[in-house]
Amino acid sequence: MCAFHRDDNHQLCVDGLLLSNIINQYGSPIYVYSAAGIIDAFTKFQTAVSPVNGKVHFAMKANSALGILALINKLGGGMDIVSIGELARALAAGCKPNDVVFSGVGKTAADIQEALTCGIGQINAESAAEVAAISSIAANMGVIAPVALRVNVNVDPGTHAKISTGQLDTKFGISTNQHEVSDLYQKMADDPHIIPTGLAVHIGSQISNLAPFEQAYSALLALAIDLRDAGLPVPNLDLGGGVGVDYKNAEPTNFDAYGALVKKLFKDQGFKLGFEPGRSIIANNGVLLTRVIYVKQGENKRFIIADAAMNDLLRPTLYEAYHPIWTLAAPDVLTGKADIVGPVCETGDYLGLNRDMPEVNGGDGLAVMSAGAYGAAMASNYNSRSPAAEVMVIKGSAHLLRAARPIADYINDEHIPDLTHFR
Ligand SMILES: *Cc1c(COP(=O)(O)O)cnc(C)c1O
Repeated sequence: MCAFHRDDNHQLCVDGLLLSNIINQYGSPIYVYSAAGIIDAFTKFQTAVSPVNGKVHFAMKANSALGILALINKLGGGMDIVSIGELARALAAGCKPNDVVFSGVGKTAADIQEALTCGIGQINAESAAEVAAISSIAANMGVIAPVALRVNVNVDPGTHAKISTGQLDTKFGISTNQHEVSDLYQKMADDPHIIPTGLAVHIGSQISNLAPFEQAYSALLALAIDLRDAGLPVPNLDLGGGVGVDYKNAEPTNFDAYGALVKKLFKDQGFKLGFEPGRSIIANNGVLLTRVIYVKQGENKRFIIADAAMNDLLRPTLYEAYHPIWTLAAPDVLTGKADIVGPVCETGDYLGLNRDMPEVNGGDGLAVMSAGAYGAAMASNYNSRSPAAEVMVIKGSAHLLRAARPIADYINDEHIPDLTHFR
């Protein structure tokens, strides 16, 4: 069952707590996460990859609230980061540097230096130029950098184009065509400032079919075996994230088939395996609560104007993503289609289009379901709106993870130059 569900009176609740109570107490809009749901998903993922002794690094770009990172850290999760800002957050949440993997195509010299200074577990390099940069920075610092190569095995993950990363025409990874990867890996092994730690692959996100994983993982395995047969050390294989979730029904993700595939391919092959799930751990364990401001009957359709917008949850606008939208109160009979939109001045600012909705009125609470991943993490200050605060429900009580930043704080960060000579 989804962590968020209707109680016996058909009120939307989480862990025995009414969502209407949370919105009354904390205001609107607000993100609400279920600790029990996160624990359940993370534990199920760990269990699914336990036959191959997989180490799980949470892809924290999906949700980087410190309270969530600390919870996942407690469950034994490391972190997959894509920036130095994320490194700072991972460490602030109590994660050990050695449990952090640094991904991304564009790490600057300063980023690499900071990662090596703190003793990062592994850097996943994505180009020959990056490997050269890591080598010279490590040499200057007098350290040995742990580096894996992220490879591009040219697999179409069959997902939205903006979250596909596995094909040759994306910016990600080093092509396994020709001999680029093996030559570079050999070079790393010969480099006194680098310790090669293996290979990594991540072909995309929201992948709902196992075939692309099988194709990519088989290619990765074949390459790893080739390198090992050539006498090179290949201790780790990092299999990335990307497992899709059921947005339509907001049901917990079942990792059994994914785990079985990984076991079939990698069991007893002699590699240590790492995983980087993000979305599948957190998406269905968070919701965005919003209040209806107005209902407007347009010429051709009904608009439900809510106080959450694209600056709080960008996914509908950016990816045409579908999030179920439920009333917090017991749902009445459906009274026809409606667009649920926010106050931001863009036609693309919507939470849901053409939804069958009951009658709702100003002040009513709504829940945008399955908003835990790439929701709060992508929020912005657009239209000078302060993004929604975040709370997590732990054993039936709500805990504030992050307050909404007062607009005054944004203003205080800014400076007005001396403009007197324009007078
Ligand atoms: C985004 C990302 C992930 C997580 O992907 P999900 O679809 O959220 O599981 C994992 N690894 C890398 C390198 C990523 O960029």
